[in-house]
Amino acid sequence: MDGWSRTYAGPIKTEWNAIAQSKGFDLIRRVRDKFHVVLRCHTCGAMTAQKLFTLRTAQPACASCRHHAIQAMAQKAGLEFQGYDPEDHKLGVYRAPCGHTLRRQFGQIERIAGGHCKLRCETCHSGKEAEEAADRGWQLMGSDPEGNPNYRIYQHGCGHTQRVARANMQSGRFQCTACGEGWATAPSHIYAIRLELPTGLRVVKLGFSRDPESRLHNQLLLQSGIQAELLRTVPQPTGHAALCQEKALHRALKTSHPDAIIPHEHFRDWLSVKTEIYGIEMTPIILKHLDDIRKK
Ligand SMILES: [Zn+2]
Ligand SMILES: [Zn+2]
Ligand SMILES: [Zn+2]
Repeated sequence: MDGWSRTYAGPIKTEWNAIAQSKGFDLIRRVRDKFHVVLRCHTCGAMTAQKLFTLRTAQPACASCRHHAIQAMAQKAGLEFQGYDPEDHKLGVYRAPCGHTLRRQFGQIERIAGGHCKLRCETCHSGKEAEEAADRGWQLMGSDPEGNPNYRIYQHGCGHTQRVARANMQSGRFQCTACGEGWATAPSHIYAIRLELPTGLRVVKLGFSRDPESRLHNQLLLQSGIQAELLRTVPQPTGHAALCQEKALHRALKTSHPDAIIPHEHFRDWLSVKTEIYGIEMTPIILKHLDDIRKK
């Protein structure tokens, strides 16, 4: 504040007084240097330092009146003014009725107070968005790293993270790029298959397929000597849904029965799959899970 309390010793021209009066101020004194004066607001009585140039060529603003106006406008808009944004003088910091803190341009608060637009709390809104996403099996992760306000980052039930337009999340008109395309929208099945390998190892395989029967015969079995039986199939509206159900089920089983997963080396000579094989003792548990999925 160097200089702002220091009176500048210089004459005050009578015309300056007249100009100050006409603009709603008393000219009190010169301050700091030859360019500045102290004005007292007729409305609120507060002092404000202004450039002489501003006084002569424009309407000087009373900082105190402006502050009161901002507070009043906030109140009218249903907000609580908390202060000025230290980084951007055009922005105020407000507390919304929902309790969240918002940064807004003063002009926008005026428009809200005037009923010309509505306040939109980003935080609340993202709560709603999170629900929308959850309905489709996605989790809202955050705003777009590319800065487009219409996009968000979501994580799919399969674990894949993807940038999706919010409108598309609402309409469902998009696909998880990790879950593939085409098949994703086609009906599918989750299945459980019981297998007995020539080594005597008895296992259950859990998976999903559009056609579990053909999967059993054409893809799963590398060679004869393996006995296989399709235990259960649960229809799913889409391949996408099937994949997500299957992944979720694997996660649940891994948590509840971490020891039941058969290591790859026990079956790699016989089966073309790499994982998703459980010990035979898991059969009733897996079938129960599948029946629960069917009931949903
Ligand atoms: Zn004032
Ligand atoms: Zn909010
Ligand atoms: Zn996915």
